[in-house]
Amino acid sequence: MELDIKPLGLPGEDRRPLIIAGPCSAETEEQVMTTARQLSKFGIKIMRAGVWKPRTKPGGFEGHGEKALPWLQRAKEETGMLIATEVANPHHAEKALEAGVDILWVGARTTANPFAVQELADSLRGVDVPVLVKNPVNPDLELWIGALERINGAGIKRLAAIHRGFSSYDKKIYRNLPMWQIPIELRRRIPNIKLFNDPSHIGGRRDLIAPLCQQAMDLGFDGLLVESHCCPEEAWSDAKQQVTPEILDYILNLLVIREEITTTESITMLRRQIDECDDLLIDTLAKRMRISREIGQYKKEHGMNIVQTSRYSEIIDKRGAQGSLCGIDPECIKRIFEAIHEESVNQQVQVMNRN
Ligand code: PEP
Ligand code: MN
Repeated sequence: MELDIKPLGLPGEDRRPLIIAGPCSAETEEQVMTTARQLSKFGIKIMRAGVWKPRTKPGGFEGHGEKALPWLQRAKEETGMLIATEVANPHHAEKALEAGVDILWVGARTTANPFAVQELADSLRGVDVPVLVKNPVNPDLELWIGALERINGAGIKRLAAIHRGFSSYDKKIYRNLPMWQIPIELRRRIPNIKLFNDPSHIGGRRDLIAPLCQQAMDLGFDGLLVESHCCPEEAWSDAKQQVTPEILDYILNLLVIREEITTTESITMLRRQIDECDDLLIDTLAKRMRISREIGQYKKEHGMNIVQTSRYSEIIDKRGAQGSLCGIDPECIKRIFEAIHEESVNQQVQVMNRN
């Protein structure tokens, strides 16, 4: 199904990265307001905050629900920032829209469930609101695209995708494996979709936020959704991965944004040079084989063996040392010359056997 996607209509959309930042959860009115003021001071234009929190196990903080929506409203009124929150069902969507939430996102656990996504999509029919769809918890690109199709099919055209990584049994460096090839393939399949990266839920650790943001930028992502809290250590959810607005500002200022167009142009030029080198390599190899055949003819006329071991060793040793001087691994040179020598011998065998 071809997706019908329009620009999100968000401030800063034409520049990379488009930033959405804010706490994992709205905990108290004070925490929401303090974080909002700090984010706004650092130029953030869109704030996120979870109101309904999907938790792996019961007993944790599951969000205040509707009670927290007025806090978000107040943050919006006071700072002028737009507000984004997660919705998992029609009731959440209805309450969030009533409270003036500007952007809805679908969480990873919801995206994994087509029934839930369809219900949510149906409840949004006739509403014009940007919806950001996180990847499902499992590495299934079709399920992610399926969720985008369901929501788009309900008439939501201001649609974007958020890459938040994929759950795995043995957690190593990352809380959720990035598996970058999946969002890259999503971009190839739906070229005009805006793609956000969520380094907080991928990394699960504060110190991984900066390198993940940079990697996302280097891979051409459009935006970043980052968890930021006025007192990260005291956060009621995802405390290890949140950064203060000040640290977030520091991280964002250090980002190197390479313009895609320049990169594409310069890489085209470099590839052209590689092609020229490869042409020269083939020409040189062809010339080498012609000479080799002449040697084969000489050996045939003088009753000599094809393989002269001492000569072969000399070539391999000499070229290996030469390669090493030019920064090429001598073992690699050895493998290349072995292959060339093998072909040379084949060509000489053919000359020898010719009548
Ligand atoms: C979140 O953004 O706080 C969240 C719950 O994310 P995810 O759906 O990616 O786990
Ligand atoms: Mn979180």
